[in-house]
Amino acid sequence: MYDYDLLVVGSANADLVIGVERRPAAGETVLGGDLAVHPGGKGANQAVAAARLGAATALLARVGDDGHGRLLLDSLRAAGVDTVGVLVGGAPTGVALITVDPSGDNSIVVSPGANSRLLPADVRAAAGVLGASRVVSAQLEIPLETVVEVVRNLAPGSRFVLNPSPPRELPAEVLAACDPLILNEHEARVVLGDACTSDDPEDWARLLLARGPRSVVVTLGAQGALVADGSGTARVPSVKVDAVDTTGAGDAFTAALAWRLGAGAGLADAAAYAARVGAAAVTRRGAQESYPTAEEVEAL
Ligand code: ATP
Repeated sequence: MYDYDLLVVGSANADLVIGVERRPAAGETVLGGDLAVHPGGKGANQAVAAARLGAATALLARVGDDGHGRLLLDSLRAAGVDTVGVLVGGAPTGVALITVDPSGDNSIVVSPGANSRLLPADVRAAAGVLGASRVVSAQLEIPLETVVEVVRNLAPGSRFVLNPSPPRELPAEVLAACDPLILNEHEARVVLGDACTSDDPEDWARLLLARGPRSVVVTLGAQGALVADGSGTARVPSVKVDAVDTTGAGDAFTAALAWRLGAGAGLADAAAYAARVGAAAVTRRGAQESYPTAEEVEAL
């Protein structure tokens, strides 16, 4: 009945990474190593993570009519993502300029580019794909109005999952549609704003639930996650691994959770599976390059 297990609506960026001995101060030029270009952006990451697990996945996004856009389309297709909803043109592809020093500290400049031109009209034009998707997930690297339009155009019976990253206060209409709202500690604090007076994730989950989502998942890095819905809260332990690079772990977790929920799993079971996917992702370098197949998750 549904063509897609998961439709991701979100960003696609080229991550341009240069290793440096020291990140430059104002007015300074430093020499770095060779440029590495990686496909990234939270939307593209989630879509690739879900497709690699075996989910029938589509992405609604916008890239520029340029080399970075073609790189992103190639990597999405190679992972098995349906790119019918990836619009091309209107602005250059979104780019993250990243310098990283030997201690791993980085400085990042993001040019949202085409991501900022993914507009409500594009969502309306993609009504066919939206209507054919069991679960729809979004993040906030695209305009908030576009996410609002997604919520307004969900097919009856399809499920909406939001990772509010980068975080901001959210309209009630969006919060009420989330099942779940998935966020890390920093995002939880920003979404709660002044209401966040405690350091206990269980308190955040309760406060967030009171704002309308049907369920909430707080991810806690190596500490696992916390799930909450009308029936209470539960801790989901992490899987112990040797972490090499945590970049993109949250996107892998979110994609896996959304897919398992669509397949009928309960919230705690879906989060336990997603924790295994997140753990597998941190054992390898990079974001999309680190995402596991379902077989690799089983083997963990
Ligand atoms: P990012 O922004 O880096 O993509 P995030 O802050 O959104 O990540 P995290 O909470 O760091 O998300 O990670 C998501 C999930 O991945 C965690 O809930 C956990 O299950 C798993 N995970 C992350 N880091 C580790 C780790 N070091 N060991 C085991 N599991 C991990």
